[in-house]
Amino acid sequence: METVKDIKEMQKHSSCLRKKGNRIGFVPTMGFLHRGHMSLVEKAREENDALVVSIFVNPTQFGPGEDYEAYPRDMEKDSALCRQAGTDILFSPFPSAMYPSGFRTIVSVSGLTEGLCGASRPGHFDGVCTVVAKLLNIVWPHRAYFGLKDYQQFQVVRRMARDLDMDTEIVGLPTVREPDGLAMSSRNIYLTAGERKAALVLFQALECARKMAAGGILEAGTIEEKAREMILSTNGASLDYASVVDAEELTPVKTIRDRALLALAVSIGKARLIDNAILEAGNRESNG
Ligand code: AMP
Repeated sequence: METVKDIKEMQKHSSCLRKKGNRIGFVPTMGFLHRGHMSLVEKAREENDALVVSIFVNPTQFGPGEDYEAYPRDMEKDSALCRQAGTDILFSPFPSAMYPSGFRTIVSVSGLTEGLCGASRPGHFDGVCTVVAKLLNIVWPHRAYFGLKDYQQFQVVRRMARDLDMDTEIVGLPTVREPDGLAMSSRNIYLTAGERKAALVLFQALECARKMAAGGILEAGTIEEKAREMILSTNGASLDYASVVDAEELTPVKTIRDRALLALAVSIGKARLIDNAILEAGNRESNG
């Protein structure tokens, strides 16, 4: 495995790989890798000739007062995990190289970024889109892999790649969970033992909502209310949003027709946690 920090050098590597006919798989991350990240890395390894993983804690997607400085970092461990997983190139540029003085460009996707995390974290998705666009230009992969845990991010990035005719297939992969259901996240490290227990409410609320929809309760308001009630009655949890939205456009829905997404954002202690589930509409009669 080669570790590359220089942007031009990364671009040279990618050109060489492409000239030799290799298909490049790419996994962009902010590091502090866990099994969720590694599921993307493993899939990318399987499906491509060459594998590039990036580790870059992107300052522009953190708002003022968010956890950019405190965001957990462990380059040594991450590097070992990437090597073990068969990564060819670990790309970890410096922020000053990604955003040199005079940097003036923002990539912005409208509509899809208005609700959910876009509403509570102004500017967040501009930061995400800009950095992902830059990384895709630098690494120039055939496929880039994203986790559906960050469902809105996946939809936004996919739309950006489509709208800007980027020659990269954006692949979304399922959320990897702890045995009890908590979605794996680098931010779980912020949780104390008590908060870790409380954090389970996200998964419980999603499971409950899935059952409600499968059982024919299709009014979004009823499902959202139940999720809110579960979260608000959990000690130490404060609700950012619990929203049932169209699974492609991320716009609010009133009644679930076929399928919809329930997206949750909850703060527990120092951690802001997000999770989501697809709700499939069932039939009230056939489910008793
Ligand atoms: P991050 O380092 O948090 O920016 O995440 C890098 C990539 O890993 C993103 O595409 C995330 O959606 C994905 N990811 C994070 N947590 C998980 C998880 N629990 N399961 C699957 N993918 C994940």
